[in-house]
Amino acid sequence: MSDTSRVVHATGLYASFTVDDLSAGDGRRVGRLLQWLADQELRATFFVIPFSYPNQAPLDEDADLVAALRDAVAAGHEVQPHGYDHELFECGLPDLMAVQDEAMLGKVARALSREEFQLRHTHTRGMIGARISRALRILASAFPGYQPSGFRSGYHEFCRELYFALEDCKIRWSSSRTATPQAYRPRVTEGSDEVISWIGLLPYWVGGVLEIPHCADYGSHLPPEDIAAWVGLARRHLAACEDARAPFVCCAHMPGLACAGDPPGWRDAGYRSYEQVIAAARQDFGAEFVTLGELADHALATPSFWPQRDEYRR
Ligand SMILES: [Zn+2]
Repeated sequence: MSDTSRVVHATGLYASFTVDDLSAGDGRRVGRLLQWLADQELRATFFVIPFSYPNQAPLDEDADLVAALRDAVAAGHEVQPHGYDHELFECGLPDLMAVQDEAMLGKVARALSREEFQLRHTHTRGMIGARISRALRILASAFPGYQPSGFRSGYHEFCRELYFALEDCKIRWSSSRTATPQAYRPRVTEGSDEVISWIGLLPYWVGGVLEIPHCADYGSHLPPEDIAAWVGLARRHLAACEDARAPFVCCAHMPGLACAGDPPGWRDAGYRSYEQVIAAARQDFGAEFVTLGELADHALATPSFWPQRDEYRR
């Protein structure tokens, strides 16, 4: 990375392929994803959940996952924390525009109308910081000597105290906010998926933490006949990133890629979709895929390029 203006290099833009939600219990299934990444010659950033709530197990208890991720890091991939246990309201409130389904929206609305005061009360710098510290201790146990540089919250959650807590935990960047919230839908919906949220595509500072917004997931539990529509959406988002001289950060999930099971005809459609998205990014936009940590290091090297958004801190 030699360019010093924005995060676009001379021949095209930088892109990152991130995979969220790996946690204890996934160790036996992750091999296929790693093989696919190798086939695509992609170095990915894994935002892992340090404590699996459904399995009540910390990541370092899944020996298969720890071994696979150690091999992955040796191969150039990257591991960063994705909250502590990814429970709803862990790191603040979700981005409501990005809530995908009616049931989830109802759950959030009921909780907010009933418990808003209590929810705000739990989102103190100290309480969020304690959870992130626990997350970092689990990762330090799994990967001795490793200090994550970045962070992503579950459900695109945020609040001003989250950024204070990240600073306290010596996390330098976050990729928690989505720039394209209305693309978080089960099907591509005409028009609304193009909306770039007010936060925009470019990195910005919240205090001492650089927030690097991400785009959408272009391959999650989709019917094969929708692949062309998702690739088309990704192309429009790539063009928006190119115009803004912003990085293109896509946000995949392992179960959505394979979509094994229900319905069987959708199997692997997520992988097929991303193969086309990655090819389009490389061939038509000159994108170079790097890990998000590498991209962040590049952006952090020119701190004055990025605006400060202190509205979260007052
Ligand atoms: Zn997640």
